[in-house]
Amino acid sequence: MKTEVELANRLGQQKFRLLYSDTDIEQRIEILAQEINRDFAKAEPLVIIGVLKQSFIFIADLVRKLKMPIHIAFMGASSYSKTQSTGIVNITQGLASDIAGKDVLLVEDIIDSGTTMKALLKFLADHKPTRLKICSLFVKPSKMKDFATTIDYVGFVLDDVFVVSYGLDYDQKFRELAHVIELLDLD
Ligand code: 5GP
Ligand code: MG
Repeated sequence: MKTEVELANRLGQQKFRLLYSDTDIEQRIEILAQEINRDFAKAEPLVIIGVLKQSFIFIADLVRKLKMPIHIAFMGASSYSKTQSTGIVNITQGLASDIAGKDVLLVEDIIDSGTTMKALLKFLADHKPTRLKICSLFVKPSKMKDFATTIDYVGFVLDDVFVVSYGLDYDQKFRELAHVIELLDLD
């Protein structure tokens, strides 16, 4: 209850619904990290490719629970304007390091239609990693029409809702909030 009051103070007139508390997120990431630690125990190193900028908090929390040596690289991709995917993906930042022959984990904040992920996978496959797995904090299966790729590590499965906080924004707002909320009555 205290959490909801704090959020209401912060959000003012904006209607919202609390979906996952900071504790829910932490517990879920602990389980994801255990799975990744098991699957990539022998990686030396595991190259984590984070997709900016929404995944920055997730990556920071996830990597601190990993046990193998890691390298980190970041990519940028954009297809969204406010709350709608435009369907066209721009790779705004490519790869600075060589991933050929390496174990790679691509870390996303959210997979909605899958358009962005499809473009990233195509880009990365051309760079010939030995193993490429995908981790996303959120997925929206009902929106992934023609995207059949298995997401190896999924934090939370969402309905067709628009979520913010924990790195995810609405028009650059709300990234810093610790509890994941659905924004309601958006135009
Ligand atoms: P896709 O290409 O899968 O349709 O969209 C992926 C990108 O859209 C995500 O990486 C994210 O940037 C943005 N996105 C999709 N759904 C949401 C959402 O519910 N909240 C926020 N803040 N961004 C979203
Ligand atoms: Mg993203």
